Amino acid sequence: MLDVHFTTDVEIWCDNWSRIDEQFPEAFQRYVYGPTPQGNFGIPYALKILAEHGLKGVFFVEPLFSTRFGKKPLEEIVGLLKEANQDIQLHLHTEWVDESIKPILKDTKQKKQYLRNFTLAEQKILLKVSKDLLQQAGSGPISAFRAGSFGFNRDTLKALKSNCIKIDSSYNQSTNGAKSGICTGEIITDPFECEGITEYPMTVFKDGSARLRHTQLTACTFAEIEGLLWQALEHRKKSFVILTHNFELLNRNRSRPDYVVINRLKKLCKLLDQNRDSFKVCGFEEKLEEKRMEQKNIPTSSRWRTAGRMIEQAYRWRFS
Ligand SMILES: [Zn+2]
Repeated sequence: MLDVHFTTDVEIWCDNWSRIDEQFPEAFQRYVYGPTPQGNFGIPYALKILAEHGLKGVFFVEPLFSTRFGKKPLEEIVGLLKEANQDIQLHLHTEWVDESIKPILKDTKQKKQYLRNFTLAEQKILLKVSKDLLQQAGSGPISAFRAGSFGFNRDTLKALKSNCIKIDSSYNQSTNGAKSGICTGEIITDPFECEGITEYPMTVFKDGSARLRHTQLTACTFAEIEGLLWQALEHRKKSFVILTHNFELLNRNRSRPDYVVINRLKKLCKLLDQNRDSFKVCGFEEKLEEKRMEQKNIPTSSRWRTAGRMIEQAYRWRFS
């Protein structure tokens, strides 16, 4: 049995930082509900697909935007997820820090993209503020975290521990992993312990061109993800972390549905639903007792699957 963590990072972006107050109401609708002439393809639509297959995902919700726009929009997101009985955990994009109406930190002159750009003391404050915001919005207890753009470091784990968050899923060898200073250069595929935190790395694989990729709904075909899931099961991996975002069922302009990705999600949910004796879709658990394991059998995807993805992605970019 393989633990499969279907994770969605939930976040809102305005088109440009100089006009966020003007743009936010429309951005909120677009990123949360995903209205298009063909229907709505935002969070409620994804929740409906999960519900049709009785699956519970982990939603890492970014709350720091509410220091600018108030708690109501955050409560609305949390309300949707709670009503759907999904697991709500913490995500954090530090691009919002300097946009807060009340300063969160002493020095916020510069916009910083990654949490690792902040000192340990600052990270502790940012995590406390974000966790409080999410809990006050009704999330329930927070036990797991993912840094925005995977931009964490060892201090983040210390800051998490001091905020009683014992699980992290920010390690991504294909994006910012080496810069975290944790396990530099190593491809880690199973959960491991670091600084008293259980780290669940993003599942990464080598594709047919030997490039390292993470398993993200918009970045892999269904055939690739399916092949990797069966391979992970065969190799007795402990967990498999899949990434998506609240806006991935829309095209790049967020103006139309991306039916290729929608079909990927539907097929993936069906596969996970129909193979419950092999795949257990679940939340994260503390696994401190487990020592770091020797990481063998890096998942790989064949050349023909890589070629299949390139064709499918080209179709998406052209027609959606
Ligand atoms: Zn994010």
